[in-house]
Amino acid sequence: MSNDTKIILGIKDPNIKKLKIMNPLEVKGPLKVQALLDYRPKACTKCGVLNQKSIIKYGWRWTTVKLPQAVERDVKLHLKKRNFKCKQCHQYFLAETSLVQRNHTISNVSRISCLVKLSETVSMRHIANELNISSTSVLRIMRSYQPDIKTNYSWLPAVINMDEVKSTKDAKGAMSFVFMDGMRNEFIDILESRTLYDLEKYFNRYTKAAREGVKIIVTDMNYTYPQLTETVFPNAIVVTDRFHIVSSIMRGFNRVRVRIMKSYANSNINHKILKRYWKLLLKPNEKLNFNVYHNFTHLSGINTENSTVDYILSFNDELRQAYELLQTVRRAVKYRHTSKLVTILDKKNDYPEELETPLNTLREHQESVYNALKYNYSNGPMEGINNKIKVIKRVSYGFGCFSSFRLRIHLVFGIKKAA
Ligand SMILES: [Zn+2]
Repeated sequence: MSNDTKIILGIKDPNIKKLKIMNPLEVKGPLKVQALLDYRPKACTKCGVLNQKSIIKYGWRWTTVKLPQAVERDVKLHLKKRNFKCKQCHQYFLAETSLVQRNHTISNVSRISCLVKLSETVSMRHIANELNISSTSVLRIMRSYQPDIKTNYSWLPAVINMDEVKSTKDAKGAMSFVFMDGMRNEFIDILESRTLYDLEKYFNRYTKAAREGVKIIVTDMNYTYPQLTETVFPNAIVVTDRFHIVSSIMRGFNRVRVRIMKSYANSNINHKILKRYWKLLLKPNEKLNFNVYHNFTHLSGINTENSTVDYILSFNDELRQAYELLQTVRRAVKYRHTSKLVTILDKKNDYPEELETPLNTLREHQESVYNALKYNYSNGPMEGINNKIKVIKRVSYGFGCFSSFRLRIHLVFGIKKAA
């Protein structure tokens, strides 16, 4: 009987004996189990002296251990632990078990399942409910993971992706700095602040060899991060995220479209067309269909996607110019035609103002923009990590201090790695 109960409750320690369920017939409430923990200690846990009849049994101490659910009921184990006295150092100590850490009431099994659940993007309240422990305990178990996050200051990846996410309220900066290993696509860390001063201070903790090993930094068109190559990463070049190049021009094009749309009255058919077909205008030109004819709302007769776009562009020369620029940049980036991009950035073409702004930004980052066409690295993988961080932030609501936030992120990305 006792052994079967142990198996059901997942108790493996052979020193836990005489298990007895105190309320087997009750249907509600936790299952109350009694047991005792006793063995002959090999040595004193206080002074370390080997037990050569120098440690004597000295009564019992009752403790409570919360076990994970069994047979769909919470389990409360009243464990009677043997107390010992060491004749050498005259100190007392309690029998220990792998079932529960010293001075804890939550079993190691619960602790581990709590950490596993924390590594999934579910709320802390949900975890607390499921494991029948308080939210404070969940937080405490999470904090106990802190020593497991050790930064190795003697290594950095050859490719680092850098980005930022909105931070917690108590954090030093409104945005937190996130960086990842661009080769293995793995999260590395999140920092409270993203100022040049703080980033240099942080990265300078790494060995010179680790910093010199960084060859590529992938980032959006940010002004801070590229400066790190002048100080902490002497051998690194900067690669602008290529999706960022296209999207900055795309935003410019959209502004032109909206301005032209607004030049027509709301009731004007051109206004309606420019409002309705914005998506079609952003579609890669070579993907527009040119042989399937059908009815397009607000347009007369039947048309193809291609003829519709052509018709819309005939409204305004500036719109056509902006459209052609967007398509050229998109193609240059996609097919890595650096020379085409150079031609666009080199000459001072009189583009609409909405496009001159993003073009000037590209000109200022020319070197890293051209690198984006030369190398295969982008911030695409970073997006996945950032999305996950956003979910973690949402489910950790209520425990919103930065150190807990960071810990939870490490749990989510770290436990998976170890598994
Ligand atoms: Zn002792």
